[in-house]
Amino acid sequence: MGLVVQKYGGSSVADAEGIKRVAKRIVDAKKNGHQVVVVVSAMGDTTDELIDLAEQVSPMPAGREFDMLLTAGERISMALLAMAIKNLGHEAQSFTGSQAGVITDSVHNKARIIDVTPGRIRTALDEGNIAIVAGFQGVSADSKDITTLGRGGSDTTAVALAAALDAEVCEIYTDVDGVFTADPRVVKKARKIDWISSEDMLELAASGSKVLLHRCVEYARRYNIPIHVRSSFSGLPGTWVSNEKPESQGDEQVEHAIISGVAHDVSEAKITVVGVPDKPGEAAAIFRAIADAEINIDMIVQNVSAASTGLTDISFTLPKTEGHKAIDALEKAKGQIGFDSLRYDDQIGKISLVGAGMKTNPGVTASFFQALSDAGVNIELISTSEIRISVVTRQDDVNAAVVAVHTAFGLDSDSDEAVVYGGTGR
Ligand code: ASP
Ligand code: MG
Repeated sequence: MGLVVQKYGGSSVADAEGIKRVAKRIVDAKKNGHQVVVVVSAMGDTTDELIDLAEQVSPMPAGREFDMLLTAGERISMALLAMAIKNLGHEAQSFTGSQAGVITDSVHNKARIIDVTPGRIRTALDEGNIAIVAGFQGVSADSKDITTLGRGGSDTTAVALAAALDAEVCEIYTDVDGVFTADPRVVKKARKIDWISSEDMLELAASGSKVLLHRCVEYARRYNIPIHVRSSFSGLPGTWVSNEKPESQGDEQVEHAIISGVAHDVSEAKITVVGVPDKPGEAAAIFRAIADAEINIDMIVQNVSAASTGLTDISFTLPKTEGHKAIDALEKAKGQIGFDSLRYDDQIGKISLVGAGMKTNPGVTASFFQALSDAGVNIELISTSEIRISVVTRQDDVNAAVVAVHTAFGLDSDSDEAVVYGGTGR
């Protein structure tokens, strides 16, 4: 039996009972003969509470101190979990990200892992311990300061450790039974997926599916680490995410399902730059201003320009959290770009249909638009890739649209309703 990395999210360790329940699971894995490394998130909504607290003290807390504060959340859960395991008669040691050898760049609040040197974890395992590691944190190679990896970063910690320790699998325990064909909080008839390719999972994550972080899937794909997403509340098998379909999932070379799932995202806003002269260099100037402000954008649409004025409109979407920054950057560059005005709209939502089988099934796009039309949903922007179609609609229409598309593509399950075991979804 090999080494497994298990990651438990905040809702799985929300209180003392949760920690004791998780401790039992970990001990079971150890009893089954595995070497076990556990990555743990902060309890429940601790990270959000720490952020609220920081904002009460200072509207713009400095990155270094902010990271110091936030990493405390994971320290609490790692120590409590180690205590709970010892109480069950097994040896466990907890480690901060820094002690576990998670080395990052020095960008506070969204550091990237640049190396993992898990010497102390290896030693702890060799001495028969279960190793518990605080997720979401590391130490900068340059500044020697403590960093955090961005919200939800514990998944990335888990995959990075799994890669560095050459683990058999990285198990991500969460508050649902796996990856579903749509968010089970929105679609009651969402179906659990047994296996999904890393490629499709990356696209779902990029389109707003929150079950796995994009960066974590990217890392797992690069190092070829299979991920098993499952619930810490039920004993059920979850969803395997890997580059190749594992043998346990049937060895016939079946084609990809045409559609893997429907994702939605209500975290974006839309900016329309109105009255842009239709001549070379205009789009470049607009998106240079946005890029210089370090804002990542998503969809872009340029209208056909009105023949009478020679002016056009350019719309794009971006995270709501970057809205003010983007407007400021464009206003500053207004004289140089030369547009009439800016419109900001944060009442939008995005629905995406994802599946590798789409490439070879030309009817998919038509059926997608038909489903939206039947549901009375108006489409504002459209973008496509080889394995995805996304549309922007009014935010109020998003849930109905997701349900309609899910049904139209035959994804509804006929059996049990999808269960959400915990979490405030905060
Ligand atoms: N506790 C951190 C957060 O809430 C990291 C994580 O949960 O993965 O974002
Ligand atoms: Mg969390």
